[in-house]
Amino acid sequence: MSSTSSKTNLLGMSQNELEQVFAAHDEKPFRARQLMQWIYQRGVVDFDAMTDLAKSSRGWLSEEAEITLPEVQSRHDSVDGTIKWLFASGWGQAVETVFIPEPGRGTLCISSQVGCALDCAFCATGAQGFNRNLTSAEIIGQVWHAMKELPRRDNGEPAVTNIVFMGMGEPLANYRNVVTVLELLVSDWAFGLSRRRVTLSTSGIVPHIEKLGDACNVALAVSLHAPNDELRDSIVPINKLHPIATLLEACWAYAAKHANRFITFEYVMLRGVNDSLAHADQLASLLKGKPAKVNLIPFNPFSGTQFKRSSAETIRHFQNRLRQRGLVATTRKTRGDDIDAACGQLAGKVSDRVRTPLGQKNIVDKNTGKSKIRMASA
Ligand code: SAH
Ligand code: SF4
Repeated sequence: MSSTSSKTNLLGMSQNELEQVFAAHDEKPFRARQLMQWIYQRGVVDFDAMTDLAKSSRGWLSEEAEITLPEVQSRHDSVDGTIKWLFASGWGQAVETVFIPEPGRGTLCISSQVGCALDCAFCATGAQGFNRNLTSAEIIGQVWHAMKELPRRDNGEPAVTNIVFMGMGEPLANYRNVVTVLELLVSDWAFGLSRRRVTLSTSGIVPHIEKLGDACNVALAVSLHAPNDELRDSIVPINKLHPIATLLEACWAYAAKHANRFITFEYVMLRGVNDSLAHADQLASLLKGKPAKVNLIPFNPFSGTQFKRSSAETIRHFQNRLRQRGLVATTRKTRGDDIDAACGQLAGKVSDRVRTPLGQKNIVDKNTGKSKIRMASA
């Protein structure tokens, strides 16, 4: 967002915060809900057009507040219908948002951070390091923009029917802002999506999975990618902090809170690394009898990576083996190849990854996957 104004940005505020803004002007809470409907359901951000708010309210709103959207830098359309937008995130950086149309639904894949500190070995975002968290306005603004720009479906529904937090960043490392966004996505006063149509994908920040279960029971996807700690330690460094057994315990507790709704386990297929039938057997033993389904993701290469995608045959055998062992297993179709919009290829523009806007240095501990911000000495 490029605004330097001192006005309060109302975009991305929780209902509670917005009600407080109105309360400070002795206005009733339902005024805040009306404003949310204007912003999120009608796509209106000009206070003067909000005709059911009193003229006096529009007056103080215009003086003290604004609705500032993230700035679209570019749009790229794939031959397969996938669309990718780059949103400016300040200081020359940008994040990416991808729309994937499919028969009967339209999925929007959104970003939660500029870069990512967790440094998974096979991920283009991770390879860039971490710059900063996106604000709730910058996250919900991606959804607002897609809803506004894309034409409605034939049945009159908005083009975006599903949201997945599978863009740039680790959403649970930006917990507070992401929970505010989740609330807006499912709120009847905002986007009103069913909780089943909103999926948060995490590489496994266990304490926050536990908190999320109480805060907002959206669908959960977990980036497992390896069936044992030794291998997972080497490709998903956060595993050293939260190993598989602890992670799975948190997953089953999350599922139990929500009538045993299935958790999706993502598993990127890396040639010669995690794709043998022995790996499939280990994976099946971990998940068998649990509310789990497995989504295999063919690895998407990016420049500089040492990994290769498993062959289609290997992926098929792996999937069949999981099925024979009683698991529900699917393989994700790769979309938007020609515009670098596929899973794990989102790199945006995190050009100077170790410098934050305040001149701090971001140091990622390769052993723990933890990010430590320090003041740069030079
Ligand atoms: N940080 C979150 C969400 C963003 S990544 C997470 O890790 O879950 C969304 C999914 O894409 C994750 O499962 C991630 O592991 C996977 N992914 C990352 N890099 C990939 C690549 N190069 N090819 C295929 N999938 C990849
Ligand atoms: Fe971050 Fe997810 Fe990429 Fe890992 S896979 S580096 S957690 S964005």
